[in-house]
Amino acid sequence: MSTNPSVDLLSPVSMRRSSSDVLLKHVTLLNAQTQKTLSKLTIPKVLVLYTGGTIGMKVLRNAYEPVTDYLPDALRDMNIMHNVQFAETMNVIDPDKSFLYLPLANEECIAYYIKEYVPLLDSTNMTYDNYIHIALDIKEVYNLFDGFVILHGTDTMSYTAAALSFMFENLSKPVVLTGSQIPIFETRSDGRDNLIGSLLLAGQYRIPEVTIYFRNRLYRGNRVTKTDCEGLNAFESYNCPTLAEFRTKIQVKWDIVFDRSSDGPFNVHTNLNRNVSLLRLFPGITYLTMRQFLEPPIQAVVLQTYGAGNLPSNRPDLIEELRKAAERDVLIVNCTQCAKGSVYYAYESATALQKMGVCSGSDMTIEAALMKLSYVLGKYSSDMKLMKVKMAESLRGEMSASLNKVVCPTINLTWILNTPIDQSDEESLQFRQSLLPWLVATCAQADDIATLQKIRQAQANINFNVLLPSGSMPLHVCAKHSALNCAELLLRLSADDQPIVNEPDQVGFTALFYAILQENEDMIDLLVGYGAKLTSTLKPSEIGMYLCNCVKNNQFNRLKAWHRASADLDQADYDGRTPLLLAVSYNSLECVRYLLENGKIDISWSDSRGMTPMQIAKQRGFDSIVQLLSAYANEQSK
Ligand code: ASP
Repeated sequence: MSTNPSVDLLSPVSMRRSSSDVLLKHVTLLNAQTQKTLSKLTIPKVLVLYTGGTIGMKVLRNAYEPVTDYLPDALRDMNIMHNVQFAETMNVIDPDKSFLYLPLANEECIAYYIKEYVPLLDSTNMTYDNYIHIALDIKEVYNLFDGFVILHGTDTMSYTAAALSFMFENLSKPVVLTGSQIPIFETRSDGRDNLIGSLLLAGQYRIPEVTIYFRNRLYRGNRVTKTDCEGLNAFESYNCPTLAEFRTKIQVKWDIVFDRSSDGPFNVHTNLNRNVSLLRLFPGITYLTMRQFLEPPIQAVVLQTYGAGNLPSNRPDLIEELRKAAERDVLIVNCTQCAKGSVYYAYESATALQKMGVCSGSDMTIEAALMKLSYVLGKYSSDMKLMKVKMAESLRGEMSASLNKVVCPTINLTWILNTPIDQSDEESLQFRQSLLPWLVATCAQADDIATLQKIRQAQANINFNVLLPSGSMPLHVCAKHSALNCAELLLRLSADDQPIVNEPDQVGFTALFYAILQENEDMIDLLVGYGAKLTSTLKPSEIGMYLCNCVKNNQFNRLKAWHRASADLDQADYDGRTPLLLAVSYNSLECVRYLLENGKIDISWSDSRGMTPMQIAKQRGFDSIVQLLSAYANEQSK
């Protein structure tokens, strides 16, 4: 089957769509029969726009290249991707066999139609024209489908996802981008799972956002960065939790899904300003380099500063260049070079930027900041003030908080703590007492050690280790929020005869457990240094279960965190399964390597069917794991 249109669909849209251009007639995405079939289908319908990327590549001429006209037919031959019997029953409705039918557990199916772009692109070759093209294609058939999947190369997927998130206004349907690290035609491909997951999300869940689905996780598209070009977990979203996780069940975090569909009818904004650029500070940068970057035609710049938004305070030459550019109405957004965390103007050096009207990029990714600038400039270009307001607003969930929202005023601590109270006035005393836990919790959450110290000075006998209304104690709050300084203070202050380090919260977890969930090695070391022990609240088999879960979900860093907290890496779970058995079964190569290199592992331990890790790896053809296990066995026998 070929779905290739006869006209180059990746030609610039401005040409393809131009009504004045009589030579290039408007190309409709679906032919009349396909539209007829669509109108009769009563099962979920998903449009798959196949733009290229590794997922559909093959090794030709010694390198990976996209193969035209191949993927849809190949999918048709895979039972897990297409239910042939079901398709037979659809013959009357779908005589052209245009659709594929993804089998679901309940004998139902999701119908999906693949539109292959010509030429298929390595995503490194994609430009704004392609974003506009994809967006207009979706607009053209928006009402006919329940959701959309975009098959895309991973290299620039985060840029496309960010761009589309802004271009789609009032989106009410899911748009899921996916791809793979290994082509779908190869045995070990991650592409099949990624595509199946994306089809399920697009066909069955109303998550009206542009998202990226990869390796069992659904991310907000404008929060993601590609962080790994080898591992199968290619993406990270450091400043925003995943929107959904595929475990034995699909868990969608509905409370954080961003839904603006009720704001108005769906619309596509295609005017993206291309005069935006990215300037990353480095210690040897000269003012001339900076000047060149800020010169016309550049209209907006993402300035990647150090840490929490800092630039050197002893470089008036750089500040001067930025000031001149800002005066010329170059829109400058300050983003951090750190992958995690947010810009906040805490240091003198950053305040200079704020004063000259540089916008804070908060915790946006670079991809999101660039695409947002293109969108905001394209939409509100004549109004600098409005553009700045928009940059400070979270338009599509791309930043954690709107920067121009009214912020709850800070509590005047000194007033609360120092206002003399009539000691006989029970009510006032109680009022002040009852405020303290809130203050302590706020400090712990923000790692605000200065305020915590002030509270202590004002109230020397204060007991910080109270149960807060949330059911945690301040040390748990610190561990959950990686507040290292406050945690250290609390631990230091806790009386030796009343150590707090192993205290469980109301649901039975200790600070060490939360530090592991945060994968925060410094916090783990601190707590362990003060005597934290996993076994104080967890049974060995429970620890085994958590370890097994890590390897099952390929949470390599989490596994490392458990190890750092002294977990025995060979600990079996309730069912007698060891982390190694699970890591092998799930082909988690990274985890297998880590377990063998760091644990005292008994590789002869077998599962309930009597299979050892080596037997499982050989049976499944996991050659790299077989090699690792053999090397380990050889080492042991020496
Ligand atoms: N270079 C490829 C691309 O981005 C990589 C991939 O698909 O994973 O198209």
